[in-house]
Amino acid sequence: MHQTLTIPTHAREQLVDITEQVESAVRRSGIRDGLAVVFSTHTTAGITINENADADVPRDMLHWLKTRIPQNGEFHHGEGNADAHLKTSLFGVSQTVIVNEGRLALGTWQGVFLAEFDGPRTRKVLVKVVPTP
Ligand code: ZN
Repeated sequence: MHQTLTIPTHAREQLVDITEQVESAVRRSGIRDGLAVVFSTHTTAGITINENADADVPRDMLHWLKTRIPQNGEFHHGEGNADAHLKTSLFGVSQTVIVNEGRLALGTWQGVFLAEFDGPRTRKVLVKVVPTP
């Protein structure tokens, strides 16, 4: 059984640090060693792992993307959010993290982010923890 995290976002584009919520889901699973799959069920919001110590890193990532893939670029998709679909596929909608002794085996500077590209909305993120020998 997977767990569902409900993540509210507050801007059109935002990197939301969900590391604590994912850690809590791993604890609730009771699984000490395995793999945690973190999966966004959306087409305009992805999942990425990057630095969560310096807020300028996520800020730079969003700014870089926005300048290369503007919302008002030349797209066919009529909803006005073609840029968000593109960015989501670039980031991907899932990440897999090793679970070691009940904790995410992230590096010192790593955090798990929900990458919102068409907010603000309430997003669902699934966490499935799979035990390994
Ligand atoms: Zn769309």
